[in-house]
Amino acid sequence: MSAKPGGDTIFGKIICKEIPCDLLYEDDKCVAFKDIHPQAPIHFLVVPKKPIAHLSKAEDSDAALLGHLMIVGKNCAAEMGLSNGYRFILNEGQDGGQTVNQIHLHVCGGRQMKWPPG
Ligand code: 5GP
Repeated sequence: MSAKPGGDTIFGKIICKEIPCDLLYEDDKCVAFKDIHPQAPIHFLVVPKKPIAHLSKAEDSDAALLGHLMIVGKNCAAEMGLSNGYRFILNEGQDGGQTVNQIHLHVCGGRQMKWPPG
């Protein structure tokens, strides 16, 4: 991996332990940690270490990594006791509401989710 894990973003600083987080899981490919501004009783993020600023910039070769984020997300959701369901969210770009330019999967649960989303 040539560039800094997580890119030059706040998540990169978290991955490199330059700033603290409430870590739930880590392996060689990703980290999972609680969101600092939770939008549900349980809200955590799964972030790849490979710097990928936007889903739209992901390459075909990232397919296994992106799938891995979902597997880690569902495993962490189970460990957090979300047996009644949860929601995965991946915000892309300005219209998608993305504020941190490193791909991240939101996992929200612990309450009834609404549809349609805002
Ligand atoms: P986005 O809007 O890009 O999809 O989501 C970014 C998320 O990162 C937000 O939910 C925000 O609360 C979270 N976040 C931003 N800065 C930090 C931080 O320093 N620590 C943690 N744990 N979460 C953060």
